[in-house]
Amino acid sequence: MKRINEIFYSLQGEGRNMGRAAIFVRFSGCNLKCSFCDTDFASYEQLDDEEILRRISKYPSRFVVLTGGEPS
Ligand code: SF4
Repeated sequence: MKRINEIFYSLQGEGRNMGRAAIFVRFSGCNLKCSFCDTDFASYEQLDDEEILRRISKYPSRFVVLTGGEPS
């Protein structure tokens, strides 16, 4: 099981893939505590890999960005 803050579909906003449609999988939980962090670690669901893949498959893109925390 993994702690997932949110899974959503949007455009990549930075880097070489900027503007590309992507599915974002935002993990919850991180030990780095960056001052600029925008992840709400208090809010998450416990999902297994199968459920994560099921939710990802609802979207038309095959480009997935894993973001947010560093799950243990
Ligand atoms: S989730 Fe990312 S931005 Fe937030 S504390 Fe961890 S490494 Fe830093």
